[in-house]
This record gives sequence, structure tokens and C-alpha cells, in this order.
Amino acid sequence: MNVYFLKEHDFNSFMSKMIESKKVIGPVAKKSKFVFDKLESPEQLRLDYDVTILPPKKEFFPTCQKLVCFDGNKFEGCINPQEKILFGVHFYDVKAIDMTDHLFSEKNQDWNYLANRKATTIVASNIQKVSGRAFFASVGKEVGPKGHDAFITKINGGYVFEAITDKGEAIVKFGKFEKASDSQKSEAQSANESMLGKCPEKLKYSSSEIADKVRKNFTNEKLWEEAAHDCFSCGSCNVVCPTCYCFDVQDDWNLDQKTGTRSRYWDACLTEDFSKVSLGGGHAENFRESRGDRFRHRIMRKATYLNEKLGGPACVGCGRCSSACTADIADPVNVINKIMEAK
Ligand code: SF4
Ligand code: SF4
Repeated sequence: MNVYFLKEHDFNSFMSKMIESKKVIGPVAKKSKFVFDKLESPEQLRLDYDVTILPPKKEFFPTCQKLVCFDGNKFEGCINPQEKILFGVHFYDVKAIDMTDHLFSEKNQDWNYLANRKATTIVASNIQKVSGRAFFASVGKEVGPKGHDAFITKINGGYVFEAITDKGEAIVKFGKFEKASDSQKSEAQSANESMLGKCPEKLKYSSSEIADKVRKNFTNEKLWEEAAHDCFSCGSCNVVCPTCYCFDVQDDWNLDQKTGTRSRYWDACLTEDFSKVSLGGGHAENFRESRGDRFRHRIMRKATYLNEKLGGPACVGCGRCSSACTADIADPVNVINKIMEAK
């Protein structure tokens, strides 16, 4: 791994050259919040963002994605990945992308996701400002960020750029990079470590303690019904989550009733219809009918069910769900700490 330094006054020309030659997606301001969007100029890039509304997984797993085009009995895949650089991803989102990579490739490989993922270079960046509901320092500490191609850290007078893969190294040609000194590297390390102490929220227990206790409370109906009492079943907590990956598949037919497309759309397990299945003859069965059942399912997925596959919980502590929940009941820290303190 090569570690470089880029002077502050050379940063915009580096970004300009990169934007001229590649599609670059980065955090930009949207009113008082931030989103990942295509950069048209370096001035749009906001590496001082706290958290984005939607996670960067939308670049590989869009909210709506065409899977197959069909014409009578003939069909072909709609995979058409666009090369891009995803610039300025915080480490918790890098962890989430790595989890999604695993989940979309473990059994039946999901080529629609993986083709987009392969065409993307990920440049992670240090967190300059911590969001109001974040707890990334106290969740899943046993799993580190991986799968990114480079990491850029703002320090005094410029940026330390670690090129981790060949794709990360290929970016260096766009800027006037020089070799980073030992003191610049250690300043970058301190900048990243110091942010861990600034999370406003904290889980008080280890991942394995949480996984055990949450699972033991599966049958504690009262706990789940109380936790979900104010839930609107809106699914916002799912939609903003970087580790949620459920989708619904729909066929859209053209007027000729012969051609069309099959697409997938993000789905949300907190919504009432998610677990409704047809029994035929106009009948249906909902196997998670109550709000408590659905709320429990989400917390079980985040804290317990996936731990073995992922090496830790399926939550990276971004705090997006806490901010997105109108009823303010989705915060995993509050829910889990309450479960841990229950008898
Ligand atoms: S459950 Fe909430 S805090 Fe955890 S990763 Fe998902 S959105 Fe972020
Ligand atoms: S965001 Fe809040 S209200 Fe909406 S489904 Fe999630 S827990 Fe329920």
C-alpha cells in the first residue's frame, strides 16, 4: 500500500481532473442535509458532511433496477454497469457495503449488484463531523472496514491518501501527490481515531452479549409490542439503512402485452404488506401481522440473525434510522440497551 500526501491547494485541481475523466459520485449538500450525487465541480464536494440521507449502496443497488427485458418467450439481462468513482464514503458505510457484497454473493451470485459493484472504485474518507444519532464506535467493533480502494484523510495543510488497491492507485495520476511523511501518516491516524470518541450515542454491551440477550427475548411479546406501540409501519428505518437489502420484483408490461421489463424495487420489512403472501382465490396470509412482530424481526436481523455470516451485527451505527423515524422509536441503541437491561 502506498501512502501519499496532497497539498490543500492542489485538491480542487485533483478533483477537477478526476471529474473530467470519470463519473464521480460524492457527498453534496441538499438543503440542510447531504446526499451522494454526481459531482459536476470540486466545489460541490462536501467532505465535512455528517451523514447522507440515503446510504451509498444505492450506487450498486438502486432504489429501482431493471433486471430483465422480455419479448414473448425471449429475454435478456439488463446489466449495464457504468464505471464510476464513489468518493468520500465514511468507514461505517464501507463496512455496510462489504456486508452487502457478502450477502449478494454468498449463494446465488446477484450479477445485477455485483456488476455495478465491480465497476466502482471506492474512496473512503475520514469523518470530519459526527451526526447527531451516530454510535459507530460502539457497534460491531470486531468487524473493520474493508473492500474500499483508497482512504483519504484531511489533516493540517492537505490530505493523506492511502492507495489500497490498483483501482485506488490509478486515481493518484489525477493529482500532484507526493510521498506522505511518517508524521503526516500519524496525524491521519489520530484524526481517524479521535472521531471514535465523539459519537453521541453508545451501546453498552459487546456484540455477542447483545446477540444472546436479544435472541432470548424473541418470545417476550410484551417487550416487542411496547417497543413498536407508536410505529406507523412506514418502513423509513429500513429504507435509509445501509445494511438492509430486501427487494420486491415486479413485471412491467408494454401496451403490446408481449414486451416488457422485470424490475426490482427496495422493500421494507416494517411495512404491513412485506410479509403478506397470496393463498390464491383472493385470500392472503400475513405471517408478521402485528407491528411488534415486524419490529422484532428488524432488531433480530440487525443484532442476531446475521452475526455468524457477517462476523458481527448487521448494523454499523450510522444513526440514519433514528433520524428517519417520525415516532423516534427505531434507534437501535435505545431498543437494545432497554432489552439488555430487561430481566
Ligand atoms: S440499523 Fe440504523 S444505525 Fe444500524 S446500520 Fe441500519 S440505519 Fe444505521
Ligand atoms: S421508521 Fe419508525 S415508525 Fe416507521 S416503520 Fe420504522 S420504527 Fe416504525
